[in-house]
Amino acid sequence: AAKEQGKNRYQFFDASMDEHIATKVNLEYGLRRAIEQYELQIHYQPMFNLECNEVTGVEALLRWNHSEYGLVPPSKFIPLAEETGLIMKIGDWVLREACLQLKRWNEQGLTSLKLSVNVSTLQFLQKGFVERVNAILKETWIDPQYLELEITESTMMDANEVIPILRKLKKSGIQISVDDFGSGYSSLSHLTKLPIDVLKIDRMFVEAIGNEKRDMAILSTIIALAHSLNLKVVAEGVETELQFKALKERGCNIIQGYYISKPLPVDIFNEEMIEKCKLRPDWV
Ligand code: C2E
Ligand code: MG
Ligand code: MG
Ligand code: MG
Repeated sequence: AAKEQGKNRYQFFDASMDEHIATKVNLEYGLRRAIEQYELQIHYQPMFNLECNEVTGVEALLRWNHSEYGLVPPSKFIPLAEETGLIMKIGDWVLREACLQLKRWNEQGLTSLKLSVNVSTLQFLQKGFVERVNAILKETWIDPQYLELEITESTMMDANEVIPILRKLKKSGIQISVDDFGSGYSSLSHLTKLPIDVLKIDRMFVEAIGNEKRDMAILSTIIALAHSLNLKVVAEGVETELQFKALKERGCNIIQGYYISKPLPVDIFNEEMIEKCKLRPDWV
């Protein structure tokens, strides 16, 4: 019986391996066609500004609505897109689509809404990245100061490699945000070397709010130091009133998370959020 069980286990393992590979091959095949088949979509999550109590920005978050598997989360297909190099094409698509949407919102009166777009490591380090971003901005008539690129902390580890790219982006007038800050190993002293504008505190820190005094002290320190470096602070993954209040008290500039709103498809955003983005006219 033991032998049989062993054999079954082996077969099971084999089958699931095959299935795993088949799924991956299927996903890759599907991802190649996803753009042409209109299966990629962008959801927008409001970014709530605590200084003026308004939604002053949105983060573009990519969604893949697969014909067979349904909604595939970015954690499943972004790494695949990176492995296969498809991320270049997909990254360009996201940026262009999101800029076009920003233009539509501009036309609906949201004239100072900021757009945050995530950039993967491979995309960021690709030769000609800055030129491509500039070309898309020009093509979509978006003023660079309204675009913020979110680059993860881990992408920024090698200062010598990233500083020239960051400088070029800054020179174009684009804002830079360090995403998932605190999730890796980079320190605030490392950040002082980089030309950046925004520090986005990882959800992990926000989750810890209310748990332990020490965590709260770390949070206060991060915010204070970021401010002393002239960086704005965004907190992501804010889900509760307690977290919201704690961050507000500590001077966090912008809040993002389910407490304000989930990422929304454009039609729902337009129904629910436009009123909450009554932005100051440009001349103020
Ligand atoms: P991220 O940029 O750190 O985005 C934040 C993630 O947290 C999003 O997950 C968002 O839906 C989720 N989130 C927002 N508020 C809350 C909250 O209150 N609670 C919880 N539990 N989660 C919250 P999502 O949309 O699944 O995206 C995951 C990651 O995939 C993103 O992390 C980003 O790194 C990557 N990603 C998404 N879109 C793109 C894209 O267009 N290009 C690239 N390169 N990466 C992308
Ligand atoms: Mg992000
Ligand atoms: Mg993040
Ligand atoms: Mg994150």
